[in-house]
Amino acid sequence: MRKTLYIIGLSAFVFSCTSQQNVKKTTYKPKSPVTQPKTMVKTPVQEKKKPQISNEHGVEFFTTNVGDITKNDNTVSYGSIVSAKPAGYKVVKTYFPAVAQNFRQRYLILHYTALPDDKSITVLTQQSVSAHYLVNNTGDNEIYQLVDENKRAYHAGISTWRNDKNLNDNSIGVEIVNTGYIADTTGKRVFAPFSEDQVKKVAALAKDIVTRYQIPPTNVLAHSDIAPARKQDPGPMFPWKKLYDEYQIGMWYDEAVKQSFYELAVSTELPMKYNEPSFIFNVQSQLQKFGYGTETSGSWDDATKKTIEAFQYHFRPQNYDGIMDAETWAILQALNQKYPIK
Ligand SMILES: [Zn+2]
Repeated sequence: MRKTLYIIGLSAFVFSCTSQQNVKKTTYKPKSPVTQPKTMVKTPVQEKKKPQISNEHGVEFFTTNVGDITKNDNTVSYGSIVSAKPAGYKVVKTYFPAVAQNFRQRYLILHYTALPDDKSITVLTQQSVSAHYLVNNTGDNEIYQLVDENKRAYHAGISTWRNDKNLNDNSIGVEIVNTGYIADTTGKRVFAPFSEDQVKKVAALAKDIVTRYQIPPTNVLAHSDIAPARKQDPGPMFPWKKLYDEYQIGMWYDEAVKQSFYELAVSTELPMKYNEPSFIFNVQSQLQKFGYGTETSGSWDDATKKTIEAFQYHFRPQNYDGIMDAETWAILQALNQKYPIK
């Protein structure tokens, strides 16, 4: 009995291996001399239109959707295609693009260089820091690409946002030439403005990048957002609201929602609870929920102050003192309501 079962099992195994081989022959070698009934040859895969690849200066690009956008809206493939070149074999990259894929580029991070044009180029090309793009301040129509979009640039450093860490791995970095800040007599940071030309360049570039990689508004961030303890860039002079209003890039809050949170904040929360650990814990939790890597210590510690300052650079640039006032608190809550974690 046992022997019979063994033989049945063995023949089933042999059969399954053979049939797998047959499937392979049918699917992957359509020009095989093995004669197949017409219905077998006409597989759905063969009926599919093969995506076109264009070749520019020896680099190949997909120019059309290689996935099924109705099943996964993140499968359009752009950028150079890098494939293996195994000796003696042909890698075929156009026949079977998988639906199960997405982009590695999931964030857009904006920076300022804190240097003038010439020094920005030198530092970002000759030293241990880099960015994918550099937006100059010379008034021309050029944007410099320093690193291929498919490769990592060294722009984010130690960084965190929501569940992600080390954002060099999954972001496109854009550096903008700007001299940064100087401290005034009271120690307050005074930031240099961005020229109108630069803002237009950044907006056009950002629009192109977020559209191609389908980067959500919650992932278009300042360097200061992902590293608030270390970084201030691109600072409060960068017009995030303009980018949102005029180019639909990044996040911004709804004024009416902010107003309702503001009224609650000024009437009860701030006057009565400001120094209560439970309120501070709530503020820190909301900062954390929004995306910042804040600890929930229950006290107004230095790390929390720097995080609030980073938040103000981005969303309340008129005053960036690092103090959680009623307006800042209302904006944070309005943003969390509008952009919940999915
Ligand atoms: Zn930076």
